[in-house]
Amino acid sequence: MSSAIAEQNARESTSPLLGTVLAVQANFYRVRLDTQETNQTKCLDVDKPLELLCTRRMRLKKIGVGVMVGDRVVIEEPDWAGGRGAIAEVFPRETELDRPPIANANQILLVFALADPPLDPYQLTRFLIKAESTDLDICLCLNKSDLVTGAELSEWRDRFTSWGYQPVFISVLASIGLEELRERLNNKISVLAGLSGVGKSSIINYFIPNVNLRVAEVSGKLSRGRHTTRHVELFELPSGGLLADTPGFNQPDLDCVGEELALYFPEIQQRLEALRCQFSDCSHRDEPNCIVRGDWERYEYYLDLLEEAISYQEQFNEQSDADASMKLKSKGKGQSKYEPRLEAKKYRRTSRKTQHQDLQELYNEDTDI
Ligand code: GDP
Ligand code: ZN
Repeated sequence: MSSAIAEQNARESTSPLLGTVLAVQANFYRVRLDTQETNQTKCLDVDKPLELLCTRRMRLKKIGVGVMVGDRVVIEEPDWAGGRGAIAEVFPRETELDRPPIANANQILLVFALADPPLDPYQLTRFLIKAESTDLDICLCLNKSDLVTGAELSEWRDRFTSWGYQPVFISVLASIGLEELRERLNNKISVLAGLSGVGKSSIINYFIPNVNLRVAEVSGKLSRGRHTTRHVELFELPSGGLLADTPGFNQPDLDCVGEELALYFPEIQQRLEALRCQFSDCSHRDEPNCIVRGDWERYEYYLDLLEEAISYQEQFNEQSDADASMKLKSKGKGQSKYEPRLEAKKYRRTSRKTQHQDLQELYNEDTDI
């Protein structure tokens, strides 16, 4: 059942309280209740809080239903005076990001600066590959356009267009392009990503002017603030929509296999839509009659990243072999059973865990899933 239909059914049958999980901390879920416009059946009084601090029903725990930031949920037994409630149901997810753990996100808002720090197209490509691999839409946003000339800006625009993107150019400092960005964020759940120093905090502060006040208030309630734990949190945009400020998406490692890589270059996909390479498993390197190989800007990047993806794959295979022999050794003779190689996805989890143990531990602790 689609999430929209499930929600509609729930509304019609019991007119429950519906909301969106904005943050998960320890065993509490901060839930933003739908307001009148989105939940016609329930009129919230003006004196009732818009957010409730909720626990998860034991029943959900027993059947193994986790709750993530971004989840659409049904709340029961609201205690309006105490600002508390209990999550009784979680609607099916439209999308699910693994790291950072966010449900129902629509797009990645990838922010880079045109200058200060200087824009490195290769680094940007790595971020784009990572973003493409999530399957979410990408909104590419270039900040600090006040630091480049009009000619430079239009050169960048042409380049990004040739890569297959329609970026929004902004300057938070000089108030350029911010309305266009607001429109792109409208009524969507966007996940903010980008290196530090590009202007992510400035963007949040611009769109959500009282964000620091609100964070302080919530920190008090939970006695663990946003600045002491690096947890995922959704911020409400006053004009509609949610923005996730997240620590989990800032230094992407290339952890895809070679065959996947071509999927993450829009230029390659455009070429393959029109024509086909001679070999269906073409790696687009040196095969005859390859229609991808050619004179386009990021082709060199593709080749570089392909090398990296291939060595990642080899490493993974070695690791699997090592794991398999370890397992064989550790079991007694006669009982030994060959364990199949780990799938790429599982391996990814393992490697991420070791590389980002601090974050992963926090997520496990915070998200309770
Ligand atoms: P974050 O690390 O991505 O959160 O970046 P910040 O929002 O902290 O911004 C980093 C620096 O860039 C700060 O000194 C900002 O004042 C500056 N900055 C942000 N936006 C702009 C802009 O549009 N133009 C210029 N010139 N500087 C900016
Ligand atoms: Zn090819």
